[in-house]
Amino acid sequence: MQLLASFLSGAWSNGSGSKQVLVNPATEAAVAEVSAGGHDLAAAFTYARTTGTSELAALTFAQRGELVGALAKAISNAREDLIALAIANGGNTRGDAKFDIDGAAVTLSHYAELGAKLGSAKLLGDGEPIQVGRTARMGGQHVWASRRGVAVHINAFNFPAWGTCEKLACSLVAGVPVISKPATATALVAHRLAQLFEPLLPKGALQMLIGPAGNLLDHVGHSDVVAFTGGSETAKMLRAKLPGTRLNIEADSLNAAVLAPDVDLTSEVGNLFLGDVVRDMTQKTGQKCTAIRRVLVPDDKLADVCDAIKDRLSALKIGNPELEEVRMGPVATAQQLKDVRAGIARLAEATESVHGGLGEVSPLGVPEGKGYFLGPVVRRAKDPMNCAPLNEHEVFGPVSTVGGYTGDAAFAAAFIAKGEGCLVSSAYSDDRDWTASFVVAAAPWAGRLYLGSSKMAAQSPGPGTVLPSLVHGGPGRAGGGEELGGSRGLQFYMQRCALEGDASVLKSLIGG
Ligand code: NAP
Repeated sequence: MQLLASFLSGAWSNGSGSKQVLVNPATEAAVAEVSAGGHDLAAAFTYARTTGTSELAALTFAQRGELVGALAKAISNAREDLIALAIANGGNTRGDAKFDIDGAAVTLSHYAELGAKLGSAKLLGDGEPIQVGRTARMGGQHVWASRRGVAVHINAFNFPAWGTCEKLACSLVAGVPVISKPATATALVAHRLAQLFEPLLPKGALQMLIGPAGNLLDHVGHSDVVAFTGGSETAKMLRAKLPGTRLNIEADSLNAAVLAPDVDLTSEVGNLFLGDVVRDMTQKTGQKCTAIRRVLVPDDKLADVCDAIKDRLSALKIGNPELEEVRMGPVATAQQLKDVRAGIARLAEATESVHGGLGEVSPLGVPEGKGYFLGPVVRRAKDPMNCAPLNEHEVFGPVSTVGGYTGDAAFAAAFIAKGEGCLVSSAYSDDRDWTASFVVAAAPWAGRLYLGSSKMAAQSPGPGTVLPSLVHGGPGRAGGGEELGGSRGLQFYMQRCALEGDASVLKSLIGG
């Protein structure tokens, strides 16, 4: 069986000690193994801080952008290979795999273009020049300068390509070398990316630890940064372990979708809303940090919404994603299956079933009793605002709960707030006054608000798609982090410095 090596200190290394087996979640067949440790991580940090830092520091934004553009091309050239690995190790359908892999390539391309736009500078301007002296000759300018440390990237199992590349793109364009640690269970895709990327990058710019983290965090120093995506329990441990470290956390999120009272379900906006809810439940088997978990609809439309969602879900083919007709595969791991089942059981105590019972399913094309399968589950909450299991626990699978409200925008915003901070939530309305009231009250609780309306319905990727030009992250439960958002995504890897001096010198420093 293939043993996935780590790429550390400029070489591929198998590690030592016991092995952990990666499986195909549809069949439970072993696909690869990783070693549980034995790597010299202290040497990897030193290599990044010395070789990686000096290689990247010598390059301009435009040159770093070129590197990132080459990574995007490498993904496009290996697309079919990567899709096959995602199907085999992630339980992804072909559509799910493309979402992850194309998302990675698009994000890298976005940052390649940004690098080109920033040109030959090495400092990133922050805001306009300020006159701080008696005359315009004496100026002030805030700039961002690359940090001189290592960026440790820790990623979740659900997006081994996109998660790896969104962090990598920002870090490399910002000029900071990376030690990337993908989630072990789905590491096959990330490992292949490292194989593709390593020959295209300067020495020390990218290292990848495949397998458990071991004592990785013990080596994080004062100038290093850690960007983490994963569960809130792991996030809590990181915060406690690294109190003085610049830390970006992307964690759990109870995203909501709200239908406003003006929307007819048979309209284009009604169709957009239903399509988004069903896509988010089933795409990647609901294992998307941005997926809609809570659905709020006007009381007089509640029954129709439940029927419409049920209708759309009943045609869904679930099973081995290697079969062309299958539209939803298994969850990624045995632990995920256990956690999602526990989440459904918790919801079942406070809600009634609309569709899918407790997730029982007979998957297509898998050996009897094998695979980590669940059917999509829709629940209905009588009092969604006060339903604790709905508003306090993220069920990271194909599960959504619907509840009714009067249509009041303030109530809808309070429902978003009830999730205690989310990555994204959505509202569907053509009523501009309703939308304005909702946005002002809901925005403090969400990293992104997606506003579905008839004007944009035809070109919408849905709330579940993270765009590199907009920030990704959210307050409170979602971790309080922020990634992407164009040049904002570089700032985590840079130090803001206020410069004061000759205004023309300041201008030339940022390429003016
Ligand atoms: P997880 O169990 O928290 O694991 C996340 C990552 O942390 C994995 O790479 C894991 O490595 C690593 N890790 C675990 N213990 C560590 C330690 N002691 N030191 C360093 N790294 C350590 O989360 P998951 O099960 O992969 O992902 C599911 C969760 O991620 C969900 O709750 C979901 O909401 C969240 N998520 C959030 C976003 C977002 O953008 N906000 C995106 C995707 C997922 P191993 O795999 O080797 O254990």
